[in-house]
Amino acid sequence: DRAPAALDDKLELVAGPRGAISPVSDDQAMKLGAEDDASYSALARAVEQGPERVIAELKAGGLQGRGGAGFPAHFKWDAVRNQAETTRYVVVNADEAEPGNFKDRELMLRRPHLMIEGMAIAAFATGAKTAFIYVRGEFKGCRRSLERALEAAKPHLDRLIGGLEVRIVEGHGAYICGEETALLEAIEGRRGMPRLKPPYPTESGLWGKPTLINNVETLACVPAIVDRGGEWFRALGRTEPGSKLYCISGHVNKPGVYELPLGVTLDELVEEAGGYLGTPRAFSPGGASSGFLPMSQRELPLDFGALAKAGSMMGSAGLVVLNDTINMAEAARWQQIFFEDESCGQCAPCRIGARVQRQAVDRWIDGKSRVGLAHVNEVAWEMNEGSICGLGMVASLPLQSAMKYFEEDFT
Ligand code: SF4
Repeated sequence: DRAPAALDDKLELVAGPRGAISPVSDDQAMKLGAEDDASYSALARAVEQGPERVIAELKAGGLQGRGGAGFPAHFKWDAVRNQAETTRYVVVNADEAEPGNFKDRELMLRRPHLMIEGMAIAAFATGAKTAFIYVRGEFKGCRRSLERALEAAKPHLDRLIGGLEVRIVEGHGAYICGEETALLEAIEGRRGMPRLKPPYPTESGLWGKPTLINNVETLACVPAIVDRGGEWFRALGRTEPGSKLYCISGHVNKPGVYELPLGVTLDELVEEAGGYLGTPRAFSPGGASSGFLPMSQRELPLDFGALAKAGSMMGSAGLVVLNDTINMAEAARWQQIFFEDESCGQCAPCRIGARVQRQAVDRWIDGKSRVGLAHVNEVAWEMNEGSICGLGMVASLPLQSAMKYFEEDFT
């Protein structure tokens, strides 16, 4: 009854009907980018409708930020628009670095105009005259694709909204710069370390000015919402509004990016991806930050609310499936190493805690000592309470969830 085929005709937002986007080379992608539609009819429509109506459609559509937090997009747009300060900025977070996540890369390579048009609509609705695109440094192909698309977009932007100054800023390999305030620091030319919030960027962002920060996929959804209305977008989803680009990798036959209704189950997604390889044992619904879930939770809707209730998170929907050849203590160790490496180090609980958690799993795997494991939850609590950004709050999840659901690998 859940056959995605029944929903095919609606799934045309980004990837096309039953569309799978499997990774391509930069050269192939450049060709695809060149063929991308650049009519900017949604921007023209937005200008006709005016900022209030655009934001109202966003609200009706229920678009949640696709970068990980799932925060309703219209709140941020409204907040920036309503600031007294008239110098405002739009920032595109294209620093995609969550392990298992590769949808924004594909979007920028294949459909750069979707994001650029969404960014232009955001600038128009919030009254910003300058936009920054912060692109992960390793994404050289994305940068070229965006530059070419921006050239093609320029006449449309000049004609419809009197021009938009767009600057591309390249990241330098730090995962933490995907955190929105660290990203602002990096654009301003400082070391990328998260700021204390509040104030939120909508009030005091780039150089202290109101700043709208949206993820690539979030902005890529906007032209379709403006063109076809918020209600149309909302109806695409099953348990939450809209369709979603799910990344799937690990032990499945056809890893890739699949556009499906928000709220499908893991089995439905994997069916699109050609089925499981071997006997599945665990999955991460949102990359390293979401920890692991056992297959007994495969029926959970893959949405923001249901996964949060299950003690995990959807994040940016970078799903990774692990089969029964994987020892979960080993899997947790790789993710703890990742967080230890990527902690920016400014909060002691995160800097020290991430190391302590990695050492705990090392001692178990290398010496069968449970000394560190006995304190994992306590250390996690301190990290959660004492960290100023999300990294420190989720950095213990891989080990905690592996110990909770796969106890046999720790005894
Ligand atoms: Fe840096 Fe970790 Fe503190 Fe975040 S929680 S600001 S990554 S030290």
